[in-house]
Amino acid sequence: MATAGARNYNFNEMTYSPKATTFFLNTNDDAQAVTLSIYDAGIDGKVLKKVELKRVKGSKSEWTGKVKGDLKGKFYTFNVKYNGAYMGETPGIFAKAVGVNGRRGAIIDLATTNPDGWDDDKRPAIALKDHIIYEMHHRDFSIARNINLDPKVTVKRASTNYPGKFMALTEDWATSHLKELGVNAVHVLPSYDYASIDETHLDLNRYNWGYDPLNYNVPEGGYSTNPYDPATRNREFKLMVQALHRAGIRVILDVVYNHTFNIDNGNFQRTCPGTFYRKNADGSWSNGSGCGNETASEQEIMRQYMIESVKYWINEYHIDGFRFDLMGVHDIETMNQIASMVHSIDPTMLVYGEGWSAGSCAYPQEKLAMKAHMKQVPEVAAFSDDLRDALRGPWDGDDKAAFLGGLPGFEESIKFGIVGAIEHPQVNYKKVNYSKEPYALEPTQMIAYVSCHDDMCLVDRLRASVPGLKNNEKELIKLDLLAQTAVFTSQGIPFMLSGEELLRDKKGVHNSFESPDSINRLDWNGRIKHPEVFDYYKNLIALRKHHEGFRLGSAELVRRHLEFLPVDGDCLVAYRLKNLSQVGDKWNNIIVILNGNNVKKTVNVPRSTYTIVGDGTVIDEKGFYTLTTGDIIVPARSAIIMHD
Ligand code: CA
Repeated sequence: MATAGARNYNFNEMTYSPKATTFFLNTNDDAQAVTLSIYDAGIDGKVLKKVELKRVKGSKSEWTGKVKGDLKGKFYTFNVKYNGAYMGETPGIFAKAVGVNGRRGAIIDLATTNPDGWDDDKRPAIALKDHIIYEMHHRDFSIARNINLDPKVTVKRASTNYPGKFMALTEDWATSHLKELGVNAVHVLPSYDYASIDETHLDLNRYNWGYDPLNYNVPEGGYSTNPYDPATRNREFKLMVQALHRAGIRVILDVVYNHTFNIDNGNFQRTCPGTFYRKNADGSWSNGSGCGNETASEQEIMRQYMIESVKYWINEYHIDGFRFDLMGVHDIETMNQIASMVHSIDPTMLVYGEGWSAGSCAYPQEKLAMKAHMKQVPEVAAFSDDLRDALRGPWDGDDKAAFLGGLPGFEESIKFGIVGAIEHPQVNYKKVNYSKEPYALEPTQMIAYVSCHDDMCLVDRLRASVPGLKNNEKELIKLDLLAQTAVFTSQGIPFMLSGEELLRDKKGVHNSFESPDSINRLDWNGRIKHPEVFDYYKNLIALRKHHEGFRLGSAELVRRHLEFLPVDGDCLVAYRLKNLSQVGDKWNNIIVILNGNNVKKTVNVPRSTYTIVGDGTVIDEKGFYTLTTGDIIVPARSAIIMHD
């Protein structure tokens, strides 16, 4: 995968065998020495042995050494010398197993972390266009599973033996919930080893999203039942993947190669100082991530590192897709090489990311994998903030509303999201909020969503931005369902935040990355308190799955089969999916009308006999009633779905 003429990097830093363990490290050319230390524990404990690695013959920057004897269960660090001084101990840049808090590499036989049946584990067959993504944080999902948060609710629920752990997803209650909801891909928030949680004090119940990478190629210890035993986290992560696969659900990893927890004392810097990060013209570190640093994907070693890391998660952990955090920090060439490698393994694996950065990058803007450049990254999808903000309001003000608040002017952005960000003759791109031209070549290049872990969740945002909802749950729910109807009938790939189906809130907290469980945890009573919400989400997802018309998967088919219908008034979008028998849908014409107004509206449609399957509060594919008409009355803050 290396660029022609470029060197191929070896990232295999530790190779165990019962007779001897071989170590290897890449450094910068000017490294003077590399000291390997062997320990008896992952933290503290004795140094058992120190070994000076030797330069590989003919290379300035590759170091190796072999330690005889069976080192299984021991730990190791490297320490690289530059300019006469040692940089400090590091487990290397590509440790595959670590001790507690990720400070030392662990010598284990990775094959022994495979659960029973791992060789037979299979990726569920799901076409690219058929993905339905559920974004979840391990702790949010299961931490409150044993607590009845609402004393008024006394119904017994299955609890968990593994609150906040990978293993919670191996339990029947969890996979049953996901299967019943109908999602087929779980996107887990950062699950590699991150720095912000002290794994030696998990009893403190600290919370973090985990966007502070430490070891990119090891599961996070805080989500394992024993972070001191290196094999446990690796095995439990695999058990999680295996259980989800058995439930027919894919696992997508949130990967954060764009920055590291810190530069100094970080593994990249201690190993190859300066090489992995971008600098400003004045020599200071660039901060396009907004987290204090920004990696340099255009450097050959970083590019190959990212490719190898992604490949490793696919092969070792059977991961099915990747979400790139701040993808706009990475260069286009790197993202193309990653996507090409992923799709050479399986063309149905989803690769998507945030098509933006969180500050200016020290690299030419036109070479970055920004949303506006997605046509140059054709195998990768990007989140549509156009659709998101047209529905809920802009990112820079939680109290600002848009379509869901009944405000005019967002109709073209909604239409942009419905077609999947592609070229469509009926979308007026001049009036789209952000993208003034289509960014996607195919609708599968757009992620459709209204909320994710960032910013307020949907309930909080609606309460903050739409007057009158604070004490009116009925109206709140109507708008919530309307929002998700727009998302799940979009030709893009639909994506939802975990817990929206339970009508979750986060008590109005905008950035809950380190908020306590009381803010972030899902309240599972939501299923009992708001069964109508869960049912609507479930039926909406089923509707999408049962009808090809909602996931045509190609721009040409969308242009052929999707036409917007004229409407009289603002904050109203109507479209027809027509002649769907040609694509194998059992309904030939489907009409969807979204009404963001707080009053009912009448929309003129082609005269026919229609079966109403969605009225804004309930979805029933069998239909509630039929009517022969050319005029449809759409209730306030509701979506009508019907077919003929
Ligand atoms: Ca950690």
